[in-house]
Amino acid sequence: MIRNLLCMTAPVREGVDIPCHELGPAGAHPAVALVAGLHGDEINGIFILSRLADFLGAVEGRCYPTLRLARRVLIIPAVNVLGVNQRTRTWPFDKTDINRMFPGSTIGETTQRIAYAVLEATKRAEFRIDIHTAGIDFEDLPQVRLYEPSQEEREAAHWFGLPAILERSLSPVFTTTLKHSWKVWPGRSFLLRVGQGGTVQLEHCQRVFRALVEFLGKAGVLEGVQLSNEDEETCYFDRTCCHGVYATKAGTFVSDRPVGRWVAAGQEMGYIYDSFNGNIVERVVAPVSGLLTGMRRHPLLFEGDLLLQVNRKM
Ligand SMILES: [Zn+2]
Repeated sequence: MIRNLLCMTAPVREGVDIPCHELGPAGAHPAVALVAGLHGDEINGIFILSRLADFLGAVEGRCYPTLRLARRVLIIPAVNVLGVNQRTRTWPFDKTDINRMFPGSTIGETTQRIAYAVLEATKRAEFRIDIHTAGIDFEDLPQVRLYEPSQEEREAAHWFGLPAILERSLSPVFTTTLKHSWKVWPGRSFLLRVGQGGTVQLEHCQRVFRALVEFLGKAGVLEGVQLSNEDEETCYFDRTCCHGVYATKAGTFVSDRPVGRWVAAGQEMGYIYDSFNGNIVERVVAPVSGLLTGMRRHPLLFEGDLLLQVNRKM
């Protein structure tokens, strides 16, 4: 069933609605709540959740006789509906970041009302998943991000079967995010980072789609999923594992290395060229041996820009 999470009137012409999908048997609260598109230019997550809603709708319609949706799932594919239409990260009217507006308010600015509606709809779910990408200049390997997790969250993070789980401490700065607001509620919360902003990366999207189906299977929400036995390819990394390489000079950075490969310390990762003369300014190498979890994709550099991230095995 498709319903509107929030309907907002506009000064002229039609109002703006934020639609969501409610799937599976009726219940007071969803067992799983999935959110994407808090940032309007993060299209991978929006694409993944719209496809997941289509798939689970087909499961409900008995298109897959072996599968059954045992519990209720709420999917909000695109919170920042206007931002998606205009290809902007922020809410177009006032340029505010919806993911800095939580817990929100019923009487505040539009983005505060949106934040409130999203939190109200999702906070009582047993499992809550918020999907993001890196910025439009950078590509992140599909990964689970945990911020000061509970032991139950650490365990369930493996259910996705994604290549990397990155654990971080809670930021004292970003306390107004959806993920942070979920923290006070019982249940388990996860943030997924998938690829690069501004584009759809089909391979990453397919991988995360499978990861979500696997997760729903292991959570007992989707019955009949052929579950993989072990997640031997999932690696757990904390802050100390992460090694970034930053540009020491401005120029044009070019690399054809795909994220998700294991690299050796000193291995060639790309080159910085002089943007005018074309000569090589710097040869960029892996700082340590580990998994290449992130890579800059916008070629033009300023000194100090992040080029790549390698996570060393714990
Ligand atoms: Zn985001």
